[in-house]
Amino acid sequence: MSSPKGIRNYKFRIHPNKEQERKLTNWLATCRIIYNSALADRKNYYERNSKGLTRIAQQETLKADKAKRPQVKKVHSQVAQEVLFRVERAYNNFFRRVQAGEKPGYPRYKGPGQYKSLTFTQFGDGLGASFQNDKLKLSKIGLVKIDLHREIYGKAKTCTIKHEQSGKWYAIITVEEYPVLYSPNWQSIGLDVGIKEFAVLSNGEKIANPKHLQKSERKLKTLQRSLARKKKGSKNRARVRLKLAKQHEKVRNQRKDFHHQLSNQLVWKYGKIIVEDLQITNMVKNHSLAKSISDAGWGEFISMLTYKAESAGRVLEKVPPHGTTQECSRCGNIVKKSLSVRIHACPHCGLVLDRDHNAAINIVHKTKAS
Ligand SMILES: [Zn+2]
Repeated sequence: MSSPKGIRNYKFRIHPNKEQERKLTNWLATCRIIYNSALADRKNYYERNSKGLTRIAQQETLKADKAKRPQVKKVHSQVAQEVLFRVERAYNNFFRRVQAGEKPGYPRYKGPGQYKSLTFTQFGDGLGASFQNDKLKLSKIGLVKIDLHREIYGKAKTCTIKHEQSGKWYAIITVEEYPVLYSPNWQSIGLDVGIKEFAVLSNGEKIANPKHLQKSERKLKTLQRSLARKKKGSKNRARVRLKLAKQHEKVRNQRKDFHHQLSNQLVWKYGKIIVEDLQITNMVKNHSLAKSISDAGWGEFISMLTYKAESAGRVLEKVPPHGTTQECSRCGNIVKKSLSVRIHACPHCGLVLDRDHNAAINIVHKTKAS
């Protein structure tokens, strides 16, 4: 879920023309074959020799295949070789689980249409992938139109081309970030997951999910209900299922954009951001809230906020969540309230405010030195 420090993925929609799309589709089909045969080779080799086949040995096989099969030769060599890294990763994961005493299934072969992405492992002028005149230049494919809706801060390292279920193409560019250190700022802010809103800040500000995201989520729910009513195996069901997959993708992308924007703003504005420790939060808070947390992608948001804060030289502190909702943020007395009670009204000191706002202030109080 979280990215290693300083590495970040940028996802952009790309618009290959018909010819480019045809080539990319062929490459995906060829890479699928490379993937499946490399996996089969490993399996056979292991069964005969009781030891593993290495990626280096598989690279030799790939080279030989290239000479024999024109379709393999058509695929850019970086892209073809990267497939072997994927096989190696799948295999290593499998063995790690075997060694841990689990009973994992053997790494799966990819069926038609199940191999969906290609990776250029080198990015830059004269390498497999690069930018040229606001377009994405892919070696052996050409200049591809790209929607660069966000500026890239850092050095691009690799580029993965992905064909999503909706039929849309994307480029995922992995970037090593330049450290951007913001000027010092001692302002603290507490952040609590909202029940109605996405988040509530300790200054009382409520942050709602953007309208277009709410609308897309509503549509998603409608489609889910509609799918449940369709007869199994019917044409209608297949049609709704495809629509649903497209809608899921749309919601995912919109949510991610929203998370990027919000985390950028917070890191820009505040020197210290305080949130509840998520792992404990899920255990403490009740089920319906836990569900709303997962719905809102809170965990993904916090991991995004964490790496952005780190790379900007900001402090992100996680505090234990105990009592943040029930305690009065002014006098410290416990004011019991159920989930349906939206207002914190303290009989001891008279404080009245939104329950989530009260919780966000308590989150700030829990830091070591706020
Ligand atoms: Zn009070």
